[in-house]
Amino acid sequence: LWRRCLERLEGELSAEDLHTWLMPLQARDDADGLQLYAPNPYTLDAVRDRYLTRIEAVLSLLSGQSMTVRLEVGSSSANGSHRPTPVVVKPSAVAEAPPLNFHHNLDPHYTFETFVEGKSNQLGKAAAMQVAQNPGRAYNPLLLYGGTGLGKTHLMHAAGNLMREHNPNFKVLYLRSEQFVGSMIEALRTKSMDEFKRRFRSVDALLIDDIQFFAGKDTTQEEFFHTFNALFESKQQIILTCDRYPKEVDKLEPRLKSRLGWGLSVAIEPPDFETRAAILLAKAHDKGVKVSEDVAMLLAKRIRSNVRDLEGALNTLAARANFYGRPITTDFAEETLRDLLATHAQAVTVPNIQKIVAEYFGVRLQDLLSKRRVRSLARPRQIAMALSKELTEHSLPEIGEAFGGRDHTTVLHACRTIRKLCETDTRMRQDWEQLIRSLTG
Ligand code: ADP
Ligand code: MG
Repeated sequence: LWRRCLERLEGELSAEDLHTWLMPLQARDDADGLQLYAPNPYTLDAVRDRYLTRIEAVLSLLSGQSMTVRLEVGSSSANGSHRPTPVVVKPSAVAEAPPLNFHHNLDPHYTFETFVEGKSNQLGKAAAMQVAQNPGRAYNPLLLYGGTGLGKTHLMHAAGNLMREHNPNFKVLYLRSEQFVGSMIEALRTKSMDEFKRRFRSVDALLIDDIQFFAGKDTTQEEFFHTFNALFESKQQIILTCDRYPKEVDKLEPRLKSRLGWGLSVAIEPPDFETRAAILLAKAHDKGVKVSEDVAMLLAKRIRSNVRDLEGALNTLAARANFYGRPITTDFAEETLRDLLATHAQAVTVPNIQKIVAEYFGVRLQDLLSKRRVRSLARPRQIAMALSKELTEHSLPEIGEAFGGRDHTTVLHACRTIRKLCETDTRMRQDWEQLIRSLTG
């Protein structure tokens, strides 16, 4: 079964990921599922965080029954009594708890203490903390939105965990939106909608992750709308996340969108260089991996897309270092992550930024670089300059030079203008984030 599961995953994952993380696993059948052995704790962490949910889904699909996977460090040939006390790490909450038997589903690792604060997520963190300290009263709903891998889920769990720390009887329920959809379909099928309604309305705080998946699912939206109203009216806390500003999600009912705006919506932005480096050092520390500041800076400089990628790079590095028994030096990092760093480096040159921005706004590259000052060119030009400053190491004069020989003050002015606009203008922020995404993959 495991072999078939691997075959299936082969189509979905890069060969690199497959070989680094899944091939080293050994499998053994278990009474009601599968036991997987990881060669070391890093692999275990990576598999649990990134692939476990998918593995379980594939196994369930292949076997036609619901499958649970247990993960531990060790090997399948040694059995219980002979095994040299393996490090047993609990599988994530998702793996062990069916969503609806009142289990809160919170991951205890995601707390405010383990969340590194920076300019990009300060507001989101503050809002989540206030909501956790004063559920139902601070902001309701609290909506965190922003690109993938930026810490929305982490903050949401952190809020839930803090609520329960203040009051262990506080009923917090965390669900990914697909789980909400799944439970609802199940309730419809078994004609137990009353039960479904009661269950969701009896919580003190409902946390639903990635609500963009509600798009186009009318029945779900209808049901969620009613749940929302019921919770809202009795001051039960609602926290939601979305991968973009909800008004921009197509096929989300207008009345639902308007409800989402009743509380507080906070954007989570991609972290800046310093924050990326700080996150890396913190993660390395948590995992007990020795990483110098030089290495942290190297990775932070080259991997700008999101925190998840950063963490992935760290995991790969740790696993390789462990495997070869070598310390993590900058040379070792460069060598180990050559391909990965190359894909992240590729897009972010000034000419590439110019090209992508020109395409994005439908203007000609030569016009973008010209001296013409019509607004339809001036704004994209400013954005391209600001992106160049943000995404490359070039100085202001160098950037000015690359934009048809402009003065460095012009570039500085562009950076400031765009930053201000991003704060006040949603459309602008969308464009900015979209461009960053296409440039950093
Ligand atoms: P999102 O839900 O926005 O896609 P996640 O919350 O899943 O992102 O974050 C991806 C990974 O990055 C998680 O392991 C999370 O712990 C980590 N992460 C993101 N931002 C931070 C941060 N500011 N400090 C520490 N870890 C972070
Ligand atoms: Mg998430």
